Amino acid sequence: MKDEIEFAQLRERMVATQIASRGIEDKRVLGVMAKVPRHRFVLPEYLDSAYEDHPLPIGEGQTISQPYMVALMTECLGLKGDEKVLEIGTGSGYQAAILAEISKEVYTIERVENLAERAKKVLSDLGYENVKVIIGDGSRGLEKEAPFDGIIVTAGAPILPKSLVDQLAEGGKMVIPVGGSFSQALLLVEKEKGKVKTTSVCGCVFVPLIGEYGWKR
Ligand code: SAM
Repeated sequence: MKDEIEFAQLRERMVATQIASRGIEDKRVLGVMAKVPRHRFVLPEYLDSAYEDHPLPIGEGQTISQPYMVALMTECLGLKGDEKVLEIGTGSGYQAAILAEISKEVYTIERVENLAERAKKVLSDLGYENVKVIIGDGSRGLEKEAPFDGIIVTAGAPILPKSLVDQLAEGGKMVIPVGGSFSQALLLVEKEKGKVKTTSVCGCVFVPLIGEYGWKR
């Protein structure tokens, strides 16, 4: 069993060898990836693999994303600290913790109740008071709290959900995997002067976004 000092060393190595080395430059993102205890968000049987360069199972057929993908998607949002952010797909709660460290408030939606409850507990144990975990279909967004300065979708959508584009603030950024059920393009969607600009960042593989504006099951 590793102690907290060993986990901190693994995090530093993860940032150097998996994240900075692949071109992530935002100092706030590099800092937060070195700070948040990813091992607290994984299942006990994966504790020793928490800082490895791949996703890990979290139960219910879902995954905690690869550290590099978490860093890349976070960097895409260009957060400065005063933003209101929406995450779709809470999963383990790890991405929500990363966002909570570098923005003002985070709303995160998860459709699988067990995962949402577990994430809520870990986030609360770690003292994240600016994160609200909501159980439901995040493909609809969260109308009552919109608009959001940043939206991050951590599950793959068949098309860009109009619901989410509508809930993006002027000057806001959304990052979302869009494509087939086995592979997608990671899209950066920016709203400027009422116009929506979409750029493809890279290819990616995410579990499906299931819901009204996602895949129907
Ligand atoms: N961000 C997570 C983390 O840090 O651990 C990883 C998310 S995992 C790759 C994708 C998650 O999206 C799964 O937990 C899945 O249940 C959830 N999901 C899929 N469709 C959803 C929807 N319509 N609304 C909310 N959550 C959804």
